[in-house]
Amino acid sequence: MLESRAYRRRIEKRIRVGNTAPPSLVGMSLLQPVSTARRPVRTSAVPVLPVLAAVVALLTAVGCSAPAVASTPAPPVPASPAPETPGGHPSRERLAQDPPELRGRADDALDVADGHLPDGATIADDDYPAVSRLDPHLRAALRAASTDAGIEFRVNSGWRSPAYQEQLLDEAVATYGSRTAAARWVATPATSPHVSGDAVDLAGYRATAWLAGHGARYGLCQVFRNEPWHFELRPGAVERGCPRQYADPTHDPRMHR
Ligand SMILES: [Zn+2]
Repeated sequence: MLESRAYRRRIEKRIRVGNTAPPSLVGMSLLQPVSTARRPVRTSAVPVLPVLAAVVALLTAVGCSAPAVASTPAPPVPASPAPETPGGHPSRERLAQDPPELRGRADDALDVADGHLPDGATIADDDYPAVSRLDPHLRAALRAASTDAGIEFRVNSGWRSPAYQEQLLDEAVATYGSRTAAARWVATPATSPHVSGDAVDLAGYRATAWLAGHGARYGLCQVFRNEPWHFELRPGAVERGCPRQYADPTHDPRMHR
């Protein structure tokens, strides 16, 4: 079947991509502005030891406790979320990332009926359960936004069967080493908004960037800062704007039911 060949190519491509670097490390690289902001201390022209001795003497003289001048290691950089652009929208780098939850190996037993989608599927493709089993209000909002934006909204993932979600979770545990670490990216079948048909992962920077700026007027909101491609319906956003995003799914109370 053409579909299954295309699907296999997609999976092979994703496996190759997944082998290059775990998404968590991709995210870490975005912390670079923090570390590169530290300029190396210039020591060439100033003799260091006499200066340190003078500082120690001075601090001792004014009654300070032991000076932590040279031997204390720098505190670790906290695992903060990736930086946002000044407007509060995710950076282009983040929007361009592929959903890591879909970079795994495919099980041939699972197919389109479980929510797999071929490359290029759009929000208009009702033939695929991943699209047709989405909440009708979410699907309608996405279609209206797509029309108004003049952008075809391609879908990486929409509704998923519990079996598909379980498979993704198993793969994430294998990739990240523990269920706790995997929970930052993949929910359980019982808690995933994909399984209930309430979430969609879009492909492509244009659609994601457009919705990041205009989605609220359709009730379409990004929910997790580490998943800028993931949108859910928040009807109240039409009047009040989208709620504050969670850093990642582990901060979402729905994931702790
Ligand atoms: Zn998602």
